[in-house]
Amino acid sequence: MVTEKNIAPNAGPANAQPIEVGTPLQFIPGIGPQRVELFQKLGVRRATDLLFLFPRNYQDIAPYQSITELEPGFRASVIGQIVDMDQRVSFEGRSSFGILLAINGGGYVRCVWYNQPFRRQQFLHGMRVVATGIAKSTGISFEMRHPETTILAADQPLPEAKPIPIYPLTEGLQQRHVANAVAAVLNHLVDSIEEALPESIRLAANQVNSASKACPLLGIAQALRVIHQPDTVEQANEARHRFIFQELFVYQLALAMRRHRLQHDKPAPQIVANPMIHARILKRFGFELTRDQLKAIEDVRADMAQEVPMNRLIQGDVGSGKTVIAQYAMLNAVASKQQAALMAPTELLARQHFTRLRKQLAGSEVMIELLVGSITQRERTELLQRIAIGTVDLVVGTQALLSEQVQFESLGLVVIDEQHKFGVRQRANLRESRVVPHYLVLSATPIPRTIAMTIFGDLDVSVLRDKPPGRATVHTYLGSTAQQDKWWDFVVKQVQSGRQAYVVSPRVESDPEAEIVGAEQVYRQLTEGPLSGLRVDLLHGRMDGNDKQAKLDAFTSGQTQVLVATTVVEVGIDVPNATVMTILDADRMGLAQLHQLRGRISRGSFPGYVCVFAKPGVAPEENARLSVLASTDDGFRLAEQDLQMRGPGDLLGTKQIGLPPLRIADLVRDSEVLVHARGIAQSIVERDPNLELPEHTKLKRQVTMRHGSVVDLGDVG
Ligand code: ADP
Ligand code: MG
Repeated sequence: MVTEKNIAPNAGPANAQPIEVGTPLQFIPGIGPQRVELFQKLGVRRATDLLFLFPRNYQDIAPYQSITELEPGFRASVIGQIVDMDQRVSFEGRSSFGILLAINGGGYVRCVWYNQPFRRQQFLHGMRVVATGIAKSTGISFEMRHPETTILAADQPLPEAKPIPIYPLTEGLQQRHVANAVAAVLNHLVDSIEEALPESIRLAANQVNSASKACPLLGIAQALRVIHQPDTVEQANEARHRFIFQELFVYQLALAMRRHRLQHDKPAPQIVANPMIHARILKRFGFELTRDQLKAIEDVRADMAQEVPMNRLIQGDVGSGKTVIAQYAMLNAVASKQQAALMAPTELLARQHFTRLRKQLAGSEVMIELLVGSITQRERTELLQRIAIGTVDLVVGTQALLSEQVQFESLGLVVIDEQHKFGVRQRANLRESRVVPHYLVLSATPIPRTIAMTIFGDLDVSVLRDKPPGRATVHTYLGSTAQQDKWWDFVVKQVQSGRQAYVVSPRVESDPEAEIVGAEQVYRQLTEGPLSGLRVDLLHGRMDGNDKQAKLDAFTSGQTQVLVATTVVEVGIDVPNATVMTILDADRMGLAQLHQLRGRISRGSFPGYVCVFAKPGVAPEENARLSVLASTDDGFRLAEQDLQMRGPGDLLGTKQIGLPPLRIADLVRDSEVLVHARGIAQSIVERDPNLELPEHTKLKRQVTMRHGSVVDLGDVG
């Protein structure tokens, strides 16, 4: 806890060696032998890492004031000693925690926090605290709500009225330990840090439009000094801006370099859809295409006609009709005597695509086959041969399609459906080939534009925003346990009127300890209880492929009325007559996943009904998430709200979607910087695709160090 004595800043061990880049951590004042491990937890392995341990924020200390100088409504800093603490819970369940400071020179200020019970752990009686915030008069004294605070050690001098950096911490480590360690190395090391950004780029970074005169971003040494020890918050922000730009810029460079290579390494076959072919393909769809579909098809058509390989993403909410674009592209390839491959994330989905395509191609000469894990070895061997000699035109399968053994005679197009991870895309095994295929990626992960730009920096994007006409709306309800019986009555009525229903439960088996009821048990309970008399079936991921298919077929044909399933039905399943969905333990699922699930019941012209149940007593923020789900049916808007709720700082589960971790930039907050950085990165790569010019040497080192795998096309093969 915070009671120990302060370590005077810069007080190294006697005979301290001068601090150098390679100075072991334990010799650095503020770290010492006791805290090496704690600092390592924060990613600090070498002395220089300390320089890049950036403050999360700053306490913006205002001029210190005595009680008599405080003016209600104005920002001020006070220094005082904790003489009392209180913790209350209001009638509505709102908690508050307060500390009472006896201010130097007389008088009291109470600092109070609402709904932040963890504050309790930070303070002890007698501590000296600097509090900065807006003073409110309570009549007899003053109060500060949610002030920024710094705890001073007993003998620590009063900080100057400068912003105090607030570092990320780990348990056992305190702000001043980090500040002292940084202070100990800062001046010794800043000048040895390489400047990766040439002046011209630092200037361009601040040149928002060509008319404006800008000063360049801070140079590296100055930026490092200022970010740790700013005189003002504006200054600190200027330094942060440099590093935010650098971080986004370096990643955009990596993406731009990769894109350039993909486009220039090897050519793709030119696949030209002349007006006759074009019209013939369109005629095969039994419906009129939406404006966005037509637009996306034109994009694809133009891309495929080029020798530069297509790298296009079709982004559209669930049900927006992305498959149409894929079908167009595939038929276009086949019409030019090229093979096409379609990869789906699950075998179930692959089979569904296969069935749909075969139906659509009935009566044509196109040879289409399915390559999945559950076919026999003999079938497989035979199929591989036919793919290799080119008698198969279209192959539908899972990821295994791009494995070593599958050799194509002339693969002109690869379509990847429902791609959820974007960092590194799998590429076909075509090393010896003279040409590479065109790539088309379909994704229903609704991602705000700027984020898409980061993730797909190397892809062109077509967006399907409008939905096919005639879609009825989906009503989303938040169910409570008390209403569950009523809801089941409703499900029964819907099914009796001819519709079908899903019941989704996240797990297969129950886990009594975690209060999870698995799909198997749900199935038993429902068939014996509220849904007895209906034709109910159970489907989950652990079943054998053929089994799953048979069950899905029975549901598709209407033979099964209610399908109890795990989230295997999350993606792609297309049964327009299914209009009712019950989601159990919804608090265990992410918003995007819930939205995907809901997409299963908005595929026909009947209105859809989804009811999500959470465990009783789920945390309010989880309820808030579910309320957002209920409030909008627009996947893009949902994603934006989701992001806002998580707030900056949560890196959007960057790993989950395949982004490199960001240290200082925030994709939402810094979206303008991102767009700007991207533009500069692209123009540099146009001039110098491999960053070989001398002025780019250091930049290249940065790119390789941080994103080597991206640039290297580590994904080939
Ligand atoms: P997703 O974008 O979720 O992959 P699909 O491509 O599976 O969506 O399309 C959803 C459903 O809408 C399918 O049944 C498909 O046949 C149908 N569909 C697609 N485009 C249109 C359209 N323009 N008009 C009518 N129905 C369409
Ligand atoms: Mg789909």
